[in-house]
Amino acid sequence: MIYPKPEFKERYENFIGGEWTKPVDSQYFNNPSPVDGNVFCQVPRSNYKDVNLAVEAASQAVSIWSKTSATERCLLLNKIADRIETNLELLAVAETWENGKPIRESLHGDLPAVVDHFRYFGSVIRAESGEVADIDAQTVSMEVHEPLGVVGQIIPWNFPVLLAAWKLAPALAAGNCVVLKPAEQTPSTILMVMELIADLLPPGVVNVVNGFGSEAGKPLASHPKIKKVSFTGETTTGRLIMQYAAENIVPVTLELGGKAPNIFHRSVMDADDEFLDKAVEGFVSFAVNQGEVCTSPSRALIHESIYDDFMARCLERVAAIKMGDPLDLSTMSGAQVSSEQFEKIMRYMDIGREEGAEVLIGGDAFENPHYPNGYYVKPTVFKGHNKQRVFQEEIFGPTVSVTTFKDDAEGLQIANDTLYGLSAGVWTRDIHQMQTFARGIEAGRIWCNCYHVYPTHASFGGYKNSGFGRETHRMMLNSYRHTKNILTSYSQSPM
Ligand code: NAD
Repeated sequence: MIYPKPEFKERYENFIGGEWTKPVDSQYFNNPSPVDGNVFCQVPRSNYKDVNLAVEAASQAVSIWSKTSATERCLLLNKIADRIETNLELLAVAETWENGKPIRESLHGDLPAVVDHFRYFGSVIRAESGEVADIDAQTVSMEVHEPLGVVGQIIPWNFPVLLAAWKLAPALAAGNCVVLKPAEQTPSTILMVMELIADLLPPGVVNVVNGFGSEAGKPLASHPKIKKVSFTGETTTGRLIMQYAAENIVPVTLELGGKAPNIFHRSVMDADDEFLDKAVEGFVSFAVNQGEVCTSPSRALIHESIYDDFMARCLERVAAIKMGDPLDLSTMSGAQVSSEQFEKIMRYMDIGREEGAEVLIGGDAFENPHYPNGYYVKPTVFKGHNKQRVFQEEIFGPTVSVTTFKDDAEGLQIANDTLYGLSAGVWTRDIHQMQTFARGIEAGRIWCNCYHVYPTHASFGGYKNSGFGRETHRMMLNSYRHTKNILTSYSQSPM
């Protein structure tokens, strides 16, 4: 089945204080689709003046929203979820057109997860009952939570709506108001979501300001009225965000880059066919979302005793990845998000070859007969060693760099020989080995005998240069609120 092209407005505006608001300086930029390379809409090129308006609107709204009951906030989050669910197909098609990801991923992965996220945080806030401790017979300690106020949220382009939901749902559940800046490559699907839910939101509770990082993102992250900055993006940008936030002494959550090891042990080949097939799918998941995933298993570490047999199966499966029209449900790999990203990936194809990595499959652009001007790259497998740049640097394309290891000690050493620590995969039938690797790898998410699974109630976040703080899971609510302790004595006698 092939979905028809989505219909966008020719021009979008910022969403501030519940109103569609033109940028103060009347500047807009073009938003091209990576699917066909053509501009399909214009979006405000905002600057600090627009950010100031949005922060002001949020500041006014916060005095009311922060006092709402958990029941009220739960209801709003559920209504948002219902509205998005009702329009799931519309939004999935829009996201595919804007980002390039295949429709089967946006329709069956991203958007359902968005819905689940709003419902989950609605449920969590409704189910909370707090903590009270008897310190002694006359003294009671109460832990209460209070929202931070106005929070700034800056998101990247690879999962535009889902990563907005990861940030919006807990922030609203905790009683904060939000100013959100989408990535300049993928602003429109979020604006479509805002159109769909605008009537549900009290004015100023969610504000969306569009534009570029230095012009709109920086004034947001450094605004003195912002009480927290939640950022997802590149590690280099994350460093800047920390500096801006330091000026105002506000907390930051940083979800940054990754270079995940996916480790295939000897016992994978001893296993039954079904498990072996699952492990091969785990290897091939480097091509999910065209490799534009912070957790992409972009380094495969394969035990030397199974390398030949296992790789033969994996390469056969990579060759079967169907490329084509991203709006076709049978397409497995779509377009890279932008011409810049496409060029970056192609440069890494050259870098890999120049530094002696062998290209086992792919290594080139894909000429898409449906869209000759779109940005398509063939899924690519490099063979080399962990010191090469294609093993160390985040390419963010459909590439995996493969190497071998001889024993557990060397496997762990290679896995941890990276600046990043976001995620890893471990494939083995040996429970002891699984535990050794799961505990030994320095990363925030270890997938054991699975990959690319993102339940809302499992925590997510990085070690090392992949950032800090967690998203998803109810534990991260506390990163959107203060904890206040009220310690009361009922005793009449002096101490
Ligand atoms: P990016 O850092 O270039 O941009 C992310 C956002 O930051 C955009 O909205 C951009 O406009 C804004 N920005 C850029 N410069 C800024 C500045 N000086 N001040 C304030 N805002 C600024 O990242 P990207 O290219 O959009 O996204 C890809 C990166 O995101 C990859 O490194 C990927 O690994 C990472 N990522 C991480 C996670 C995670 O959860 N750890 C998830 C998805 C993506």
